[in-house]
Amino acid sequence: MKALLIGEYREAKLLDSTYELFGFAAQLGVKTALFLVGSDSQLPAYNGTLYLADATKYGEYNPDLHKRLLLEAIGKESPDYIVFVHSSYGWDLAPRIAATLKAAQVSEIVGLTEEGFEVGCCNAKMRRSVKPASQRAVLTIQAGAFQPVQPGGPPQVHPMTAEGTTTLEFVGYEPAEEKGVDLARAEVIVSAGRGIGKKDNIPVIAALAKALGGELGASRPVVDAGWVDHGHQVGTTGQTVSPKLYMACGISGAIQHLAGMKKSEFIVAVNKDKDAPIGEVADVLVVADVMQFVPALTARLAR
Ligand SMILES: Cc1cc2nc3c(=O)[nH]c(=O)nc-3n(C[C@H](O)[C@H](O)[C@H](O)COP(=O)(O)OP(=O)(O)OC[C@H]3O[C@@H](n4cnc5c(N)ncnc54)[C@H](O)[C@@H]3O)c2cc1C
Repeated sequence: MKALLIGEYREAKLLDSTYELFGFAAQLGVKTALFLVGSDSQLPAYNGTLYLADATKYGEYNPDLHKRLLLEAIGKESPDYIVFVHSSYGWDLAPRIAATLKAAQVSEIVGLTEEGFEVGCCNAKMRRSVKPASQRAVLTIQAGAFQPVQPGGPPQVHPMTAEGTTTLEFVGYEPAEEKGVDLARAEVIVSAGRGIGKKDNIPVIAALAKALGGELGASRPVVDAGWVDHGHQVGTTGQTVSPKLYMACGISGAIQHLAGMKKSEFIVAVNKDKDAPIGEVADVLVVADVMQFVPALTARLAR
């Protein structure tokens, strides 16, 4: 099986999310080729086939031209899967490609199961496995759901060109209004659970997150109680995260929470219950009162 991965280039930079596509492909166990509208001055660290079109000529985004270029690469490569990151680029281009190829599309994949691709459903409250009915499928993966993999370079570049005109013009990017935190990109997350007791204790957890150079996360009851806003929630109905360090403070380890953080590289849990289910995924379980342990650790880090 073979996947054509669709890299991304924005504001003259190759996006790191491109490497999450390789992580996904590695888990799927498929061969890869890469397609990118970018620049030969910023080649990805990838020792395979790269179908490269020039972004200065075709725009960082132009659905007409990028679709034409990509269909050309698909024709040469005959992949079983065409895989995008579920970004504004991916969710706009993927369905255009799927419709043209009459291929199934599976969007916002967060994991792989024996049955197929794992995606959210019921307004992201649950998950289900999806198996494409067509032989070829167009996929988008949720940012942060798969560990990035850098295969190492340099690639064998196949320059791509597209004929024809377009009525569209790429005029630039407008940054979205800042809303909450982007936990998917955080390297350290310290999350507060119901075990912290009350809203007034949130600053104690936030102070540890800050001391570690990370972000504040939370379990759902903490969000539902209005102690922090939903942008901080980790889990099936919050964000899926994979930081280098995840600290769960007063969090029991319900399946819906674990689904959002179990791919973290190193997990430390602080819980007064030594048998709390979070202990099953934690690398270190600190059995302590969270409101004693966390301030002590923050103070120690400050020394
Ligand atoms: C459809 C659906 C979607 C959901 N989505 C999410 C989601 O996205 N994210 C999510 O987090 N949850 C989600 N939930 C809720 C989930 O099932 C759990 O209820 C929730 O994760 C529990 O949060 P918690 O661990 O903070 O609280 P609890 O389960 O109440 O655990 C509190 C923990 O704190 C410990 N504790 C108490 N006091 C202290 C102390 N002083 N010191 C140290 N430890 C202490 C306790 O031993 C316990 O383990 C969802 C549920 C449903 C049904």
